[in-house]
Amino acid sequence: MRIALVAHDSKKEDLVNFTIAYERLFEGHELYATGTTGKRILEATNLHIQRFQSGPLGGDQQIGALIAENRLDLLIFLRDPLLAQPHEPDIIALLRLCDVHAIPVATNVATAEILVRGLWRGDFLWRDVIKEEQELPEGDAR
Ligand code: PGA
Repeated sequence: MRIALVAHDSKKEDLVNFTIAYERLFEGHELYATGTTGKRILEATNLHIQRFQSGPLGGDQQIGALIAENRLDLLIFLRDPLLAQPHEPDIIALLRLCDVHAIPVATNVATAEILVRGLWRGDFLWRDVIKEEQELPEGDAR
């Protein structure tokens, strides 16, 4: 599965600890992250992560583009609910796209835990069915 990881500054340590705790599980998946979040996880684990721009510089929108192209299966986005973010419109747009495309998304660590355990149990196999159904025609560059 393709999983994106994002955390606002006050939640980065929580997400780093989360990825350490579930490193064995995450190893088997394709990981994406916004710039600083990805850097922190790379420093703390042996996971392979494709890093995008930092969130405020467009990283959230890059993850949104993956969703729009049906190339993301799960988003873990630990938001800071107590601090206004300069890129609030990007965050809202990203979460909206998750709803548009029915992408499972966790915005706090308790839900992230449930989704990741579901991933481990195989609860996400329906995503493969959707991907097959939306398979692009031969020769499509994506
Ligand atoms: P960052 O971006 O990982 O580059 O800090 C996350 C965000 O603030 O959306």
